[in-house]
Amino acid sequence: MTVDTLRADAIGAYGYRDAGTPWMDRLAADGVLFTRAHAHNVVTFPSHANILCGRYPIRHGVRDNAGFRFPADMETIATLLRSRGFHTGAFVSAFPLDSRFGLTRGFEVYDDHFGEAAGPAMRLEHIPRRPGTETVAAARRWMAAQVDRSFFCWVHLYEPHWPYAPPEPFASRFPGNPYQGGVATADAALGPLLQPILAQGAGGRTLVVFTADHGEALGDHDEITHGILAYEATLRVPLVLYAPRLFSRRVVSEPVRHVDLLPTILDAVGLDAPRGVDGSSLLPLAAGGARPAAATYFEALTAAATRGWAPLYGLMRGSEKYIDLPIPELYDLATDPREEKNLAVSRPQDLARLRSLLLDLRRSDRGLQPARESPEALERLRALGYAGGEGARKVGYTEEDDPKRLMSLNTALSQVIGRYDEGDVPGALALCREVVASRPTMPQALHYRAYLEWQLGQRDAAIESARRALALNADSTEIAARLGYYLAQSGRPGAAASLLEPYSRRREPDVDVMTALAVAYASVDRTADAVAAFGRVLEFDPSNALAVLNRGRVLIQAGRTAEARAAFQRALQLDPSLGLAHVSLGLLASQDGRTEDALAEWRRALELDPRAYEALFDLAVTLLQQGRIAEARPYVERYLRDAPPTEAANVARLRSLARATTRASHGAPGSARE
Ligand SMILES: [Zn+2]
Repeated sequence: MTVDTLRADAIGAYGYRDAGTPWMDRLAADGVLFTRAHAHNVVTFPSHANILCGRYPIRHGVRDNAGFRFPADMETIATLLRSRGFHTGAFVSAFPLDSRFGLTRGFEVYDDHFGEAAGPAMRLEHIPRRPGTETVAAARRWMAAQVDRSFFCWVHLYEPHWPYAPPEPFASRFPGNPYQGGVATADAALGPLLQPILAQGAGGRTLVVFTADHGEALGDHDEITHGILAYEATLRVPLVLYAPRLFSRRVVSEPVRHVDLLPTILDAVGLDAPRGVDGSSLLPLAAGGARPAAATYFEALTAAATRGWAPLYGLMRGSEKYIDLPIPELYDLATDPREEKNLAVSRPQDLARLRSLLLDLRRSDRGLQPARESPEALERLRALGYAGGEGARKVGYTEEDDPKRLMSLNTALSQVIGRYDEGDVPGALALCREVVASRPTMPQALHYRAYLEWQLGQRDAAIESARRALALNADSTEIAARLGYYLAQSGRPGAAASLLEPYSRRREPDVDVMTALAVAYASVDRTADAVAAFGRVLEFDPSNALAVLNRGRVLIQAGRTAEARAAFQRALQLDPSLGLAHVSLGLLASQDGRTEDALAEWRRALELDPRAYEALFDLAVTLLQQGRIAEARPYVERYLRDAPPTEAANVARLRSLARATTRASHGAPGSARE
């Protein structure tokens, strides 16, 4: 069980009074609680990769949430146990663990139905997710079918991740501390999963491994959430092993790490860990014995990957913690658990020793070096005028690039998202422009700016911002997909295809890139290429409802309506809340002359998604054309009032249609009401 973003010290068993975590506390009370457990990364995808394969990110290469895929040839707990006849199921709650990123291998079931469509057009920094209660319900259904079978089940909950919005009763129970409300929400969600296991007591045969992927800074060292720095607030995690048959309750204070979990689980079922894993079994410690002390590697590379800041690497050994940055840091956690006294200057020999250990460990590390296919992509970008001259990723970093000196920019970027989430898009853009002006070399800030400009209908500006972002970070498939999408939507699908094709030729291309490329092909009537590109998407991400839907839309274009209808129905099976599927089913009904069916589909689309402007537009136009003016009026008014600037052309069309229709129905000019 992995609970996202869960600080160890937010749990009752770790000493937090009134934590609201009765289930976690019960598990810990009868299990082995590790007080000094650490992650190696402070973001979701790399951290879970470490847990599942027992190796440092240096070996598996997943260094950030975006732009990476777990290698197809690396063993994980799931592949190893599956090959030994275990049944395997994964139930995850948020997009960073979507099947497209490759953690699916070895799992017979990989349930990532978040119920929200993801893609290049998704909201700024909005992470599709589902409540833990739903994930746990799916896991329980699967586990109920595993009676008398050996199984490995991974359950991931996303609460208490930001934005903190605990439901009742947890919101009221933790007024002024919504993060803790989220922790209590996660705990309650786990109850139905833990209750039957705990009820079996010493007779049970289930090993429970409970941890978090990383913690949450909550203001520590000027960090609000997580991902940029690597202090204990985010690097330290809870860890509980529960298996009363194997070991009795105990508190272990020896340092342990996520890479130890794969060897531990294999050890518990009598299997050896494969060669090359970085961890070792915790069962000796759990049973009250000892094991040789080991150093722990960690890193935080998100800011390096997305903002061009200095990459953060580090090493812990005993109570010493070394953070390798332009301004190096050394702490003694035994005497300074809050990491307030940097000993880097006063203890140069310790610093040198840890630095050389870290260099040893990273000897073969390629870090964030571009993917193999990038040179070709970069060449094409240059030829198209999209890259070059504006500086690619830096190779040398100075104190000016040290993330701890740049946290005010981190806060400002959070405020950009905050304003956007509140609906103040112009305010968000104004602040984003200030951030870009104060440090123009951050691809992420330019990427945000592009997104906000696009939302405000400033298409040329958005394309220029995205172009600059990509020039700074040509590896970013996220930005490439976004720019390709903008170009295709601005009447330049040929340029979009030229931009995206090099990225699409990677052995395992990015899903958003393939989606944007398919959209570009579709808009120049290369329907066969578009259908093939969506097919590639579905190869890597079979549960991608939006890709199934978009493939259906292209099939309509190609005149293959029966296949299209099947695609929309399949999309709705994958995601019943996908309003856009009803928009398209309405279009098919309308083409068949089944007007009432079409109207019903569009109304359904609007119920599911109030921002389904296409449905609003189709309802308004169809009803007007039928002369059903009173019925049409609310849709017309709502569309004219709410449609975003990107709908400008349709707004004009509808306005003139409404004027003409009402004029005709009143029989005289001048009496029309819009
Ligand atoms: Zn996470």
